[in-house]
Amino acid sequence: MHQLTLAEIARGLADKKFSSEELTKVLLARIAQLDPQLNSFISLTEDLALTQAKAADARRANGESGALLGAPIAHKDLFCTQGIRTSCGSKMLDNFKAPYDATVVAKLAAAGAVTLGKTNMDEFAMGSANESSYYGAVKNPWNLEHVPGGSSGGSAAAVAARLLPAATGTDTGGSIRQPAALTNLTGLKPTYGRVSRWGMIAYASSLDQGGPMARTAEDCAILLQGMAGFDPNDSTSIDEPVPDYSASLNGSLQGLRIGVPKEYFSAGLDPRIAELIHNSVKALEKLGAVIKEISLPNMQHAIPAYYVIAPAEASSNLSRFDGVRFGYRCENPVNLIDLYKRSRGEGFGAEVQRRIMVGAYALSAGYYDAYYLKAQKIRRLIKNDFMAAFKEVDIILGPTTPNPAWKLGAKNSDPVAAYLEDVYTITANLAGLPGLSMPAGFVDGLPVGVQLLAPYFQEGRLLNVAHQYQLNTDWHTRTPTGF
Ligand code: GLN
Repeated sequence: MHQLTLAEIARGLADKKFSSEELTKVLLARIAQLDPQLNSFISLTEDLALTQAKAADARRANGESGALLGAPIAHKDLFCTQGIRTSCGSKMLDNFKAPYDATVVAKLAAAGAVTLGKTNMDEFAMGSANESSYYGAVKNPWNLEHVPGGSSGGSAAAVAARLLPAATGTDTGGSIRQPAALTNLTGLKPTYGRVSRWGMIAYASSLDQGGPMARTAEDCAILLQGMAGFDPNDSTSIDEPVPDYSASLNGSLQGLRIGVPKEYFSAGLDPRIAELIHNSVKALEKLGAVIKEISLPNMQHAIPAYYVIAPAEASSNLSRFDGVRFGYRCENPVNLIDLYKRSRGEGFGAEVQRRIMVGAYALSAGYYDAYYLKAQKIRRLIKNDFMAAFKEVDIILGPTTPNPAWKLGAKNSDPVAAYLEDVYTITANLAGLPGLSMPAGFVDGLPVGVQLLAPYFQEGRLLNVAHQYQLNTDWHTRTPTGF
């Protein structure tokens, strides 16, 4: 039963082959048995899951239907869940029980999804290896000595190991697409403003976006349908109708113009990954797509710009964690300044402190123009590159990551080495564009992802291309040994 996708679960529940309660019990037992190897969950919510599963079964018995009614999922532990610990992977929020549900959590619960738990993540979503979590590193089910990617590494490892069919993630610079690539999943970062950020603990507010992680594009369509939509509680939420994503899956790719940026195939890319990307291009060509070489000339400036803008926003967002109102408070402070200093010094881990310092520096009076303003200008140039490219092509295709999953600890002493792994993903966040990663093959037994980018609000196009690719390839069906 644990091999079933969301789409198969929906059919099984509709045909009364099993109940949501039965399925939920099977998956909770599987998590108890296998997750100690992976550490993909921070909290399990067994009681909530069983209550929601029984309620979903009752709704189905009353004639209700719906692709998510009774479907087991998990939330990255930065989506607020009422009365349940919402830690953001940090000691700072280890004792924090959210007073309300995030919009995404509430919408999925209303659609009948069953929450099995909260998944592990890099502290405050800062990282690309899931090693900065206060709750310990997550292991990659494809090789337990390797990282699963980050920051949504817990969601990725759990879904890849078949502990559950799908989970939510968030993506500020790649945190859905990169862990999806490194664990053989399909993950989609929607257009900025497509999915509400209300109740999603902020890292860099102008870049953060929630989205689905699953094994297939078909399942990403189902989960995104439950997450997307206008939310008056989020001032950057966009009031655009949500299309039927599942209905978009079956369009023909005949004549689809795919742009492959020449800058993507530079020295930093593992040549074995480059070969797999070329193979995926050939597979799409066979389905009728037309390939065109394009250029994104400002791409080389993306990492420096992102690593100014994201920390700048983080330093502002994280100033609310002061030891006074909620979260961690140090013991026996001697005065207010001591309370602030020690609560933040003890509550935040090293990577979070590094980013707060970089961000505060970039925003300081003397350096604002030189760093922050400059980075914002680069951001506009990157967006302009994409706008020019999308005049010529319908989709942009390339690798999701320059390398497969690295060994645990391999980049711990060199944060910049980890930042460089974000080279292909962060441009979509800087421009606010939707992006999807899907399985494209293996290198040394480790999964490789191919990334697709589309114009604003063309999530359906991304899902269409990925679904057609998955009907003609079987990379996404491979299961890690032992799971
Ligand atoms: N790796 C990037 C960072 O550390 C992206 C993280 C994310 O998307 N949340 O900032």
